[in-house]
Amino acid sequence: MVGVLAAALVLALPLVSAILFGLAGVLSFAAAAAGYGNHWVYGSDFMALGVVAFFGWIGKRKNRRESAAERQRQIDRDDRLETLLRQQRDQVQYPTEASTGTGGPPKATFPNFCPSCKHRNEQGVKFCAECGTALSPVASASASE
Ligand SMILES: [Zn+2]
Repeated sequence: MVGVLAAALVLALPLVSAILFGLAGVLSFAAAAAGYGNHWVYGSDFMALGVVAFFGWIGKRKNRRESAAERQRQIDRDDRLETLLRQQRDQVQYPTEASTGTGGPPKATFPNFCPSCKHRNEQGVKFCAECGTALSPVASASASE
């Protein structure tokens, strides 16, 4: 009876079921000591199940803690990515005057973004360093606008 209840609880509440299995084991040993010989077998079975359930509880607790940490890491990553994307958007929309301070033509210092993957490439490169897409010359891209 106690064992059936404990078995039903193994998945939901491993720690509770571990305690109940232990209790059932003790009760079975008590019954065996009172003269019911076959309860020695039940008792050791329940004890073994209790140990299994207990380690199941430890494993579940560990998993839960790790998945929570993993979720937090993902949130942090998303935040960082969003910040980066926002910064990149700002740079595209508002190219700062400071970046053109060398006195060269402003169009030459405009960020060389890949039209395919939006990777920001070095000035003067012909192909995207990230995906290999051919980059249109900066001069003609700026002149067409
Ligand atoms: Zn690219």
